[in-house]
Amino acid sequence: MASFVKMVQGGDAADNAYQAISAVFEDDAAGKLVLLKVNTGFKGPASSGLCTSPQVVRGLIRFFKERGAEKISVGDSSIVGVDSMEALSEAGILEVCRQEGVDCVDLNTFGPVEKKIKNGWMVDSILFSQAIYQNDIVVSVPVMKTHMYTGATLSIKNMKGGMYKREKTKLHRLQKPVPENAAGRGLDYGLLDLSTVCYPNYAVIDGSICMEGFGPSGGTVKEMNLVLASKEPVAADLVALRLMEIPLNDIGHLRLISENRGVTYNNIVVEPEDYASHSQKFLSAAEARLNISCDAVHMEDESACSACHAALIQFLRYHAHKFESGDRHTIFAGKDITLKAIKAADKPFLVGNCTAKFQEYAPFCKGCPPIPSEIAKTLKGESGLNIKYLGHSSFLITSKEYSLLIDPFLSGNPAAGAKADEINATHILVTHGHGDHLGDAAAIAQRCDSVVYATVETAGLFPEGVKLDVGQIGGFVPSDFGGVKFTTATHGSGVPGGLSCGFIIELEGKKLYHAGDTGLTMDMALLEEENIDIAFLPIGDRFTMGPKDALRAVKLIKPKQVIPMHYNTMPPIQQDPVQFKKDVEAATDAKVLVMDVGASFDV
Ligand code: SF4
Repeated sequence: MASFVKMVQGGDAADNAYQAISAVFEDDAAGKLVLLKVNTGFKGPASSGLCTSPQVVRGLIRFFKERGAEKISVGDSSIVGVDSMEALSEAGILEVCRQEGVDCVDLNTFGPVEKKIKNGWMVDSILFSQAIYQNDIVVSVPVMKTHMYTGATLSIKNMKGGMYKREKTKLHRLQKPVPENAAGRGLDYGLLDLSTVCYPNYAVIDGSICMEGFGPSGGTVKEMNLVLASKEPVAADLVALRLMEIPLNDIGHLRLISENRGVTYNNIVVEPEDYASHSQKFLSAAEARLNISCDAVHMEDESACSACHAALIQFLRYHAHKFESGDRHTIFAGKDITLKAIKAADKPFLVGNCTAKFQEYAPFCKGCPPIPSEIAKTLKGESGLNIKYLGHSSFLITSKEYSLLIDPFLSGNPAAGAKADEINATHILVTHGHGDHLGDAAAIAQRCDSVVYATVETAGLFPEGVKLDVGQIGGFVPSDFGGVKFTTATHGSGVPGGLSCGFIIELEGKKLYHAGDTGLTMDMALLEEENIDIAFLPIGDRFTMGPKDALRAVKLIKPKQVIPMHYNTMPPIQQDPVQFKKDVEAATDAKVLVMDVGASFDV
C-alpha cells in the first residue's frame, strides 16, 4: 500500500504545520490524549536550527484542539547534561504552550517503562519514558537536520529522545556485535530495534529552519520554509532526505527501517508531485568545514559517538581559544582508545565516561556526553564541585550533573541547614540506620527518584520502590558519577546483624571520605593509599571519635583537607571545632575547614 506524504511550503510555519497534519490525519482525535514529541535535545533558539520551531508546535496544537483532543502535551527529554525544561523554554516552545493552554513536559518526569525487544539486533530491551505510551496519539515533530553519526536526524531518530534519562546512551554502548555483512553501523541497527517498540503514529517534520553540516548541534542554519507530514513516519523521513539531497544509502538506520516496514520511494505518494523542486543540497558533516583552527588541541576521537563529537565541537567553538597560549593537549574520547596511545601522547586528556577506565593515567572529564564548559574547566584544573553542610553529618555534594546527599538528618534536627523538601538529590548515601543519619533519606529518595547507597541491612529500612545500590564493607560500587567504596565504621548500625559504614566517594576526579559514625580504628591507616582529597570526620565524642582521636585519624589517613562533623547538634556532643582546626593544622599538613551549617564552598 502506498504511503502518503504532504509537503506544505512557503507561508507561515504554524499554517504550514496545520495544513500538513490536516492533509494526512486519518484518526479520530476527539477525547484522545496527544503527545507532540518535539526535538529540543540541545539548548538554543529555534532560529539556530537546533530545535523544533515553536510556530510549528502552535499549528499542531491548534489542529488537535479543533479535533477535540482531551489533552495535548508537548515535550522532549534533552541529551544527558541539558535540562529539558530549560531547552524547551529557550526554544520558545514553553511559551507557546503557555499561550495555547497546553502542558509542556520534561519526558523524564514520567518515570520509566521497559519495552522488551524480541530478537533485537543490538539490544533486548529499552527503557522509555512512560509518557510515550500513556498517550493515544504520538506525533514525532523533529527539525530537519544532518547528523554527524547517523547522517540525518528526522522523525524516527527523534524518538530516541523518548528513551528514559541515561538510557539514551545505551545505543552508543552496544554490547552485541554488528551483524555479519551489516548494512549499517551498530547505532543504525540499534535504531531499527528501537523502531520496533517505539514508533510514532504520525510524523510532522519541521523544515522551516534546518541544520546542515555538523548537526545535530554544531552545524549551520539552512532555511527551507516547509513542513512535511505523514501517517507513515519513515515515508516522511525518506521524502525529507530527497529534499535534503541525501541518498538513502548514506543513512543506514532509515535504509534498514524503511526495508523493515516495506516502504520504498516507489510506494510513496507525495503532494505536491513536484515537491523535489524545493530541494536544497544539505552539506553532510564530512563535506562541511568547521572553520575552527586550533593548534592548542589535537583530537583522538575516532571511536567517540555523535554526542561526544557534539560536545567536542562546542568545546572547540567556545572554549579552545582559552588554551592557545599553553601547551598542546591531546584529547581522547570514545570507547576504543588505548593506554599505549595515551602514554605516547602530548599532554593527554580524557573526555567522556567511555575513557574513565584510564583516568589514573591522565586528567579526566566525566560525562556521557561530557559538558563543553566542564571539559574546559577540567582542562584548566577547575572541576565544578560544591559542598554544602546541612548540619550534623549531612552534606550535599553537587557537580554539574549530580547531587549526592549524605546522611540527611534534617527533619527534627534543631540545627539543620535546609528543609527536607528543599533538597534534590540524584544519589543518597546512608552510613547506618540511626535516626540522626537515616533521617529523611527515604522521603527524599521517593520524591527525587534518587539512587540510595547503603549496606544490605540498612537498605532494608527503605520502602519498596526506592532504588537501592547496596554494598558491604570493602566493596566498591561503580556509578555513572564515579563510584562509592564502603569502609569500616566501628558503630552500631541500628539494624540487627547489620554493619555501620563510611564511604569513599569518587566524583569529578576527587576522592572524598565520609567516615560515618566511628571511633578511631587502625583501618584508617589503610586509607592513606587512597589519596583522600577531603575527609569528613566526626569530632563530637561520646558516640564517635572526639577531637583528639580525630586528630590521630588525620595522621593515619593523611587527607589534603578535613571537615569536622557530628558535633554541637545536641549538648552531649558539644565541641570546639576551631580548637580542633588549630590542633590538626599544627600537627599535620592537612587544612581544616570548619563549616557553618548551611554554608557551602567550591572544591
Ligand atoms: S562517553 Fe562519549 S563516546 Fe562514550 S557513550 Fe558517552 S557520549 Fe558517547
